[in-house]
Amino acid sequence: GFPAADAEAQVRADDRGHVFHSWSAQALIDPMPVAAGEGSTFWDFRGNAYLDFSSQLVNLNLGHQHPDLVSAIQQQAGRLSTIQPSLANDVRGELARRIADVSPEGLEKVFFTNGGAEANEYAVRMARQVTGRRKVLSMYRSYHGSTSTAISLTGDPRRWANEGGDGSAVRFFGPYLYRSAFHATTQEEEGARALQHLEQTILLEGPATIAAIIIETVVGTNGVLVPPPGYLQGVRELCDRHGILYIADEVMVGFGRIGEWFAIDAFGARPDLITFAKGVNSGYVPLGGVVISERVASHFDRVAFPGGLTYSGHPLACAAGVATFEVFERDGILDRVRDLGARVVEPTLRGWLETHPSVGEVRGRGLFWAVELVRDRETREPLVPFNASGPDAAPMTAFAAAAKQGGVWPFTHFNRMHIAPPLVISEEELVRGLSVLDEALTVADGYAQG
Ligand code: PLP
Repeated sequence: GFPAADAEAQVRADDRGHVFHSWSAQALIDPMPVAAGEGSTFWDFRGNAYLDFSSQLVNLNLGHQHPDLVSAIQQQAGRLSTIQPSLANDVRGELARRIADVSPEGLEKVFFTNGGAEANEYAVRMARQVTGRRKVLSMYRSYHGSTSTAISLTGDPRRWANEGGDGSAVRFFGPYLYRSAFHATTQEEEGARALQHLEQTILLEGPATIAAIIIETVVGTNGVLVPPPGYLQGVRELCDRHGILYIADEVMVGFGRIGEWFAIDAFGARPDLITFAKGVNSGYVPLGGVVISERVASHFDRVAFPGGLTYSGHPLACAAGVATFEVFERDGILDRVRDLGARVVEPTLRGWLETHPSVGEVRGRGLFWAVELVRDRETREPLVPFNASGPDAAPMTAFAAAAKQGGVWPFTHFNRMHIAPPLVISEEELVRGLSVLDEALTVADGYAQG
């Protein structure tokens, strides 16, 4: 049932009066009141429907109000709503076992957190404890979360106002052929040169000072950057050679986004630590965590791990996680993601390269794609400048407005649109949403060189 239309004014007044929002100048925003959500769609109070091509913040993998998740939470709430982390609990244990079962061999234990930033925070703490080293290497063009360690590792402008200056976070360039830092012209060249650059960085920083390298398996918000064949295996080898731990940040791509349980399964490298959140239970109750290899876990067999959280392994969150596994298995979610990605999304996006002068490149996998918008396909000048806001961002703002006008909620970042709908989206909805975006791209074309 829809709330009465006059409820909108109260939602807006309470929000504007009292809710302090993430990442925003509070007086310059006007958050849209949302009345309801179901599957891949949510509604405002005026009855406008939005097909969610962003899965909220790329967390709503099973869509809004999935009946299995809702009932798992309701049943768990009726049974045992919370229990502190030093006691053993059935759903917490079952979820840890199921996550270990789908993790690469040798990763058997799970430390649960409340979200993605905390997962990275704890993975880094483990790596520092185990190696006795302090530095952590991360990529430019990355996002690892907003707590102090996670934001210092972040390689995008969200870090700038948060620099801690302790010198323990060092950044390097990852592979990104379309805007290659290495003057490469093929994926093979890009991967090989990116590895040489990483090796140089390790040598110049001092291998014995580096605890870990953290990499988003497929870089998410900063561009859906799929690693070239062999790159992540090369990272693994560099880590082995220098006693460095490899942390795979799978917060955005874990649990089906590219059609694998963990994205790392597609790239044949075995990390020492995997961090996850978002898709583990679609964010119905906050949950994240670290999957821990035997090498790291055994360090803490007789030595206490110095860290913890009141809500580590919260039963309501874990119940939604167990239900997520049941839905994935019963409904063949991974297969449908691969199928829809290859059969519907990829050919449609490749077609846009022919029909839209503003589309410079498309890339991705499964239900996770980026469309890179440019002013000029020859020079690859981005449609809006790096980190553009306000009037500089007008072409992207106009594109996004056209998409919303057509009933699709798009994900945009700098000069890119990403395609990241819920993994349960119907084929009809997917095709309809893509055609709305196709139409909206004519707005971007207006700023591009014909
Ligand atoms: N790591 C990656 C790759 C992410 O995309 C995000 C969030 O977008 C995070 C970490 C942080 O997760 P959270 O916002 O749950 O702290």
